[in-house]
Amino acid sequence: MKLIHNQIPVEFLSELPEGVKLVKRKGREFLVIEDVVSRSGRSLMSDDVRIHGEPSIMMQVTIRDAVGPIFLDAYWGSHAKLYGFLPTLSGADPVIDAAVPESRESLMVDSVCEVEGCGCTRAVELLLPGGENKILVCARMGCPGHRMVLSRMPKMVSDTISGINFFGAGSLDEDWFSELS
Ligand SMILES: [Zn+2]
Repeated sequence: MKLIHNQIPVEFLSELPEGVKLVKRKGREFLVIEDVVSRSGRSLMSDDVRIHGEPSIMMQVTIRDAVGPIFLDAYWGSHAKLYGFLPTLSGADPVIDAAVPESRESLMVDSVCEVEGCGCTRAVELLLPGGENKILVCARMGCPGHRMVLSRMPKMVSDTISGINFFGAGSLDEDWFSELS
């Protein structure tokens, strides 16, 4: 597994958006999502399920015929996740449908993934507090596509933040923190 640790732009660090915090681990800086909400303002954070020591982002997802909770790593650029059910993951990567766990409010929006060769036209929308900034996660399982859309920052800053990815970390078994030691 290859760890790509991109530089976090100074403009971003000097004015961190609400809902994002900076965490130092093993001498490196990471962005961690502290709070994201649905369009109706429902928080998606789960204190009960922690990944890498931080509260995870909880959603209800439909993967083919299976429905259940999924917990995403709040570390920006990590793709570690835990399933609360048993989806069928064999075959072509399915496009998931995500919703708020209790209310079933949809988190899906139309958005074309920018990862080359993906072509998915649906994304999971997570709003940062205040509603000005948001995160778009590609709905295709296994695609690393994700964007942080920052309304008050130059597009270049959004692009750089969106480019931070830790490839290959598909599960907790491949713990990318071990790469940092
Ligand atoms: Zn994608």
